[in-house]
Amino acid sequence: MRTTKSGSPAAGACQIHTKAVHAGDRRKPSSAIPVTTPIHTASSYFYETSAQLDRIFGREEEGYAYARYDNPTNAALEELLTSLENGYGSLACASGMAALQLAISTALADGRKSIVAADALYGATVGLLLNVLEPSGIDVRFADVCDLAALEAAVAESKPGCILIESISNPLLRVPQVDRIAAIARAAGAALVVDSTFATPMLLRPLERGAHFSVHSLTKYLAGHGDVLGGAVVCDEEHFAALRALSRTIGAVLGPFESYLTMRGIKTFPLRMERQCANACRLATWLAAHPKVERVHFPGDPSHPDAAAIRRLFPPDLYGAMVSFEIRGAGRDEVFRFLDALEIVVPATSLGDVHSMVLYPVMASHREVSPKHRERMGIRDNLVRLSAGIESAGDIIADLERALAAV
Ligand SMILES: *Cc1c(COP(=O)(O)O)cnc(C)c1O
Repeated sequence: MRTTKSGSPAAGACQIHTKAVHAGDRRKPSSAIPVTTPIHTASSYFYETSAQLDRIFGREEEGYAYARYDNPTNAALEELLTSLENGYGSLACASGMAALQLAISTALADGRKSIVAADALYGATVGLLLNVLEPSGIDVRFADVCDLAALEAAVAESKPGCILIESISNPLLRVPQVDRIAAIARAAGAALVVDSTFATPMLLRPLERGAHFSVHSLTKYLAGHGDVLGGAVVCDEEHFAALRALSRTIGAVLGPFESYLTMRGIKTFPLRMERQCANACRLATWLAAHPKVERVHFPGDPSHPDAAAIRRLFPPDLYGAMVSFEIRGAGRDEVFRFLDALEIVVPATSLGDVHSMVLYPVMASHREVSPKHRERMGIRDNLVRLSAGIESAGDIIADLERALAAV
């Protein structure tokens, strides 16, 4: 009665304590194929013979053995992510930060204990570099990755094993030239890790541009509904085996429920992203004309400092769905009044969801970054970061109008 087909006739003769743990479970797959991937919660797997399980443990045969290694729900999501990014293989991780840590550690596995990182990064990524990696003996150097000469100088000096960039930087939305940076990395024998959370595979597929790793916080656009925490690393053939091996040891894997929700979310991701990008364009144009707005940061702005790279790298009319803006003369108190006056846009810490969200980087994503470092990054006290949702643009604009009037 180890495996049963329908219910558990073999369990019929057993006592209730035995039935409770065996009956109905471990049914053999029928010839019917579910149209979507089920949630596989099993922590371990067995086979008809111990010899087969032995071959699977020995990696002579593909198969599932233990959920820290992989499971069928995650495998389906990983296949989907690899396909979206045109990569060689993927790993679904417990969070975007876990994914970044795994990608960086794999990139540094050749023994070079040095990283050159973009000087504008997600706040927790700065924390990972300065509070986790640097104290463990890894040399961390920041460079302006939108200035290729500055990047080349930093790479020549510190001979990094890893270059870390974001395809659209957070929160000022700068766009580095991923392909040229990949060429610099390859010439220097370094691996390029691109956090592509903001760009998503709709705007850019870093591996097609020469990067070695593309990292995502699935929490954002890919899952897209504000109900999942997850991350992913997509990488090339050269690094995949090492990445998998590291993940199997550390076990920062995505749970099967989150995998299921992410796959379900991704089915509408291209539709959501198109709509969110279109809404962001309308919001950016409207904000730029508002007297209380001092400055708008948006990749679709023809006068954006990286406009040439954006034209070259992104498809026409897709500029991402993030808009950052500076409220004229505002400090913390005025920004708080603006946030508290919003009725539709949600003032919460995240981005990429179906609902529009606004975040105050000084209070949230870049809170842990010292004021001096923030200043160097160009993140001022009047800066607000807006993530466009799929609502009607007119309703979002009316909400922003109302809240700006309260400043
Ligand atoms: C949110 C985010 C992360 C971290 O992802 P989590 O899923 O919160 O761990 C990393 N990079 C960027 C650009 C992000 O927006």
